[in-house]
Amino acid sequence: MLRAEPSLTVRRRSPSAFQSRGLDCGCRGAGGRRQFLRVAGAAGLAGLGAGLFPLRAFAADLPAVALLLSCIDYRLTTQTVNYMTRQKLTDQYDHLTLAGASLGAQTIFPFWVGTFWEEFKIALKLHPKIDRVYLLDHRDCGAYKEVFGIDFAKNPPLETRVHADELRKLKGTIIGQYPKFTASTVHMGLMDLKGNVETID
Ligand SMILES: [Zn+2]
Repeated sequence: MLRAEPSLTVRRRSPSAFQSRGLDCGCRGAGGRRQFLRVAGAAGLAGLGAGLFPLRAFAADLPAVALLLSCIDYRLTTQTVNYMTRQKLTDQYDHLTLAGASLGAQTIFPFWVGTFWEEFKIALKLHPKIDRVYLLDHRDCGAYKEVFGIDFAKNPPLETRVHADELRKLKGTIIGQYPKFTASTVHMGLMDLKGNVETID
């Protein structure tokens, strides 16, 4: 059983402290895994750890270069990871999820919109090598059904059009707010339930 150390107090920093002093997640560069191995070695566990954990379980040696926004939908968790692997970005992207993906970032609830932009901003601050964005909507999305009151799965052409509208709007806003991103570095896609992704231009 864990016991709290009575003399140790832990407080959250105020948001103003984040802004003035900056944040450091400790995950820049290749230090994460080496640090773990040093600690494990000191404890006499390095050999044991190498046998127990696959290397992918450690912090990535490569920096994050991309940011992904997708829906929360559990049906596409594996397919989304597979999609990013096909982009050759395994373990090199930050992943934001909101129900509805591009729609959730724009129109459902004001808190969601604010949260999206705060998360977007902090990802870029923590991982300044991010130079591309992936906006990934999916077909048969419950959030789109809720917001529009339409079962788009019954009308795929309409579904494509509505998703494309939301994706393009969000892409335009991202490019407008962050000049480091351009039309060619913000990618848009619409995934079906098998994991196939239709590129949206
Ligand atoms: Zn969805």
